[in-house]
Amino acid sequence: MCDSLDELQESHIIPRSIFKSLKRKSGQLVKVNGVSGVPLIKENSDLKEPLLCKNCEQFLSANYEQYGTRLFKNPNGVTKKENHIEFANFEYEKYYLYLLSILWRASVSTLDEYSEVWLPSELSNILKSCLKNKTVQINKSLRIDNFFRVSVFRLVDSTGTLTDQVIKGILTTIIGTKNSIGETEFYFAVDGFLIKYTFTVGKSELDARTSKNIGQLDNSTVLKVLKKEVTDFPELTQLFKELIKKAKSRSTNI
Ligand SMILES: [Zn+2]
Repeated sequence: MCDSLDELQESHIIPRSIFKSLKRKSGQLVKVNGVSGVPLIKENSDLKEPLLCKNCEQFLSANYEQYGTRLFKNPNGVTKKENHIEFANFEYEKYYLYLLSILWRASVSTLDEYSEVWLPSELSNILKSCLKNKTVQINKSLRIDNFFRVSVFRLVDSTGTLTDQVIKGILTTIIGTKNSIGETEFYFAVDGFLIKYTFTVGKSELDARTSKNIGQLDNSTVLKVLKKEVTDFPELTQLFKELIKKAKSRSTNI
C-alpha cells in the first residue's frame, strides 16, 4: 500500500478478527465459483498472503478495522425494527473506508478466493490513495462514494429454509456480478450481513452525486440496515442451496 520495499507480512484480505469470531461459532468460509459453479467449503479457513508491510497493517488496523469489525458486534446502541436494524453513533467515513479497504485488498490479492475481484489499476490507485489519506474525497469536487457505492443489508430468509444461525455462520468469498442495469457489483456475506459494492457511473455527474442506491451507507450518525431476503441474491441462493444439499448428505457439519 505504501509502495515501500519493506518486508511484506502474511496479511489477511478479510480482517483476522472476523475469522476469529467465525471460529468461535464454528463458522465456515464458503467459496462460490460463479453462478452455476459448485461451492467449495473450507472449514475455518484463514487466508493470508504477503501483501502489506507491518506499518500498513497497523495503519489499516488502527484506523479502520478496530472500528469496522466491532460495529455489528457491539450490542449497545442497536435498535431492532421490523424491517431494519439501527446502529447509533455511526462513523460513516471510517466504516466506508474500512469496507473499501477489504475490496482494495481483494483486488490486489493473488488468492483464488478473490479472483472475481478485479479493478482497473487507475481505480485501484484511487482506492489506495483514499485509504492512505483517510478521506472519501478524490479531489475538491469528486468523492469516491458517489460512484463506488456501498450498501449493507441484514440477510433473512422468510421462507424459513435457512435458520438465522446458518445465515450468521457463513462468510463467503467476494462474488463479482453485474446488476440489472449492467453495473459491476461485488458482494460478500459475513455475520449475517451482506456487504455490496456497486460501481455506478451515473447518467450524469449530477446524477452520480445525488442519486442513491437501496441500502446505501450515507453520512448519517445513525446507520439503518435494511433486511433483505437471501433469495434477492441469485449467486448467494445458489450457494446456500449447495450447502443445504451437502448438509443433508452429512458431508459438512452445518
Ligand atoms: Zn506499507
